[in-house]
Amino acid sequence: MLDVRTLHRDCAVATDDAPIVEAVRRIAAHDLAPLVREIDAGLYPENVLRSFGAAGAYGTHLPNSAGGADLSTAIAAMAAAGEHCLATAFCMWCQDALAWYVFASDNAALKQTIGRSAARGEALGGTGLSNPMKTFFDIETMRLKARRVAGGFEVRGALPWVSNLGPDHYFGAVFELEDAPRHFVMAIVPCASEGLRLVGDHKFVALDGTRTFGVQFRDVFIPDANVLADPIEPYLKRIRAGFVLLQAGMAIGLIRGCIDLMLQTRSSLGHVNKYLEMQPEDFEQKLESLEIGVELLAATPFEPDPSYWRQVIETRLAAGETSVAAAHWAMLHCGARGYVSTGAAQRRLREAYFVAIVTPATKQLRKMLADMPR
Ligand SMILES: Cc1cc2nc3c(=O)[nH]c(=O)nc-3n(C[C@H](O)[C@H](O)[C@H](O)COP(=O)(O)OP(=O)(O)OC[C@H]3O[C@@H](n4cnc5c(N)ncnc54)[C@H](O)[C@@H]3O)c2cc1C
Repeated sequence: MLDVRTLHRDCAVATDDAPIVEAVRRIAAHDLAPLVREIDAGLYPENVLRSFGAAGAYGTHLPNSAGGADLSTAIAAMAAAGEHCLATAFCMWCQDALAWYVFASDNAALKQTIGRSAARGEALGGTGLSNPMKTFFDIETMRLKARRVAGGFEVRGALPWVSNLGPDHYFGAVFELEDAPRHFVMAIVPCASEGLRLVGDHKFVALDGTRTFGVQFRDVFIPDANVLADPIEPYLKRIRAGFVLLQAGMAIGLIRGCIDLMLQTRSSLGHVNKYLEMQPEDFEQKLESLEIGVELLAATPFEPDPSYWRQVIETRLAAGETSVAAAHWAMLHCGARGYVSTGAAQRRLREAYFVAIVTPATKQLRKMLADMPR
């Protein structure tokens, strides 16, 4: 496996992780903060995402030569962007997940090409794993079917939503073999593949700047060279905690942003806001315990113990629920200034629901916990 320090050197990005978060924080304050309303209205923050990549934000969570990985810097970097804009933080998660898939696989060639470019933010892309994640937990059936052909697979079907895409982007996808039900293969799909179509015919209430498309596959050829895992089961166990835990960066950033909004109203509205049941200090406490839990879990994403997986799911559930609660109370603290169409509080409230509905959504997390042996 490629050592993350080698990757940093080869990618010409910093090797020490704290400056990476600081660099992301600076770029976010300078380049991202002025754009948040435009991003909310649909602007894709491509330049900002590339700047984060050049600063090293998508390279710190990758497996190291000792066989471990630490997600905490990636989560902290995502949170620094998420304080301003959840759409951008989600695109960072997409990018992190893409690089994670490649570097957690045994496909050495892909690590040198797409993996390396994704870790530097040169190649952009994401992940179409929502439908498979629901399929593996008996919520949906697989939407992509494939048949074996010479040198690879021919895939057909459609994914309703995949984010952080564009004509030259890539994403991870899973398909089921037509002649072998429940035999799943995972691969990297270039958006430029022949027969692949991106369809953008919807407007979301938030996260509209994430370049989220429906993806249609009409007999798309996926070469063996792009395969990450076949069959998928052991690999899925390897990547799943990283997939879920990295999303905490979105929640931590959003909650911090909401606490800031509550504090900003204190000088003018504190005399009446003090009667609200939830105060910024309550969310500071909740955030602190979330951050402590996340940091602990983020240090060992390949831990196979089932109790570790349960804690990951419980933590992810708390992240979604605290996000929605923080945005709700930020709205009440801000009052009318948050309710105008340019108000930050209403944007954060719309954004917050995304943390609770993106896969694994609150209802899936609750099902997973209910299905787990104690
Ligand atoms: C902005 C945005 C970005 C996303 N990005 C990604 C991504 O990058 N990768 C990815 O894999 N997933 C992505 N998703 C999907 C997301 O992860 C969830 O799967 C989705 O929000 C629904 O999850 P759920 O568990 O609540 O399922 P539910 O919404 O309860 O059920 C999902 C089912 O409802 C169907 N459905 C969808 N839309 C409609 C509709 N308008 N009317 C009726 N039925 C409908 C779907 O086909 C699906 O079978 C994105 C979703 C959104 C809103």
